[in-house]
Amino acid sequence: MPSTDETFSQQRQNMVQQQIKARGIKDSRILSALTNVARHAYVPQSRQRLAYNDGPLPIGHQQTISQPYIVAYMTALLAPKAQDTILEIGTGSGYQTAILSLLCKHVFTIEFIPQLALKAKQINDASGYKNITYLSADGSMGWPAQIQFDAIMVTAAAPLTPQPLLQQLKPFGRMLIPVGERFQQLLQYWQHVGDEFVKHEYLSVMFVPLKGQQGWQ
Ligand code: SAM
Repeated sequence: MPSTDETFSQQRQNMVQQQIKARGIKDSRILSALTNVARHAYVPQSRQRLAYNDGPLPIGHQQTISQPYIVAYMTALLAPKAQDTILEIGTGSGYQTAILSLLCKHVFTIEFIPQLALKAKQINDASGYKNITYLSADGSMGWPAQIQFDAIMVTAAAPLTPQPLLQQLKPFGRMLIPVGERFQQLLQYWQHVGDEFVKHEYLSVMFVPLKGQQGWQ
């Protein structure tokens, strides 16, 4: 039997209770965003019944939508504020983009694969998430204009921290990025403090590779 909106809504509430809240994410704005965004709309129809499972899923073009908990964890670490302008590198399905758009003023998002960028925009437009600017390009060099961001989230893994991205952080701006080996990385959190960039390392993660000038060849 095909799933109904009601079934998906129930699955989404269970996902938030069992995978997100139970693992310690308590921020009510983030929990509310995860409860509201229809994750099944961002995966291929053949995988929709798995959309609220505790793991990543393929979205085509050898790319993935991240595990719900990782989306929540990274969002909580970045701690978006209502007035923030955020840059996301790796739009992918557009799901994380939608979550961020509900928590800040504006999201700029870059996706390397044009077909994914287009699809993400179509889904988010149809869902009414409008405070988003999309670009299909190599995001490893940052947004191609002189804009500075309150926060940057990179959802693909880099071999080294891309300096052009750090340079696009406002004073006190923060950036999250997985950095390390091809199949295992550490989630790095950077903050722009005075003339310096201060780094903390968090969870061990496995993301698809960041391509482009500052990524994997
Ligand atoms: N956050 C996404 C979501 O919610 O579906 C998942 C992103 S997926 C793990 C990583 C994405 O980064 C892929 O879609 C990939 O094409 C993209 N990517 C890789 N290198 C990139 C680059 N240099 N610039 C922009 N996007 C890139």
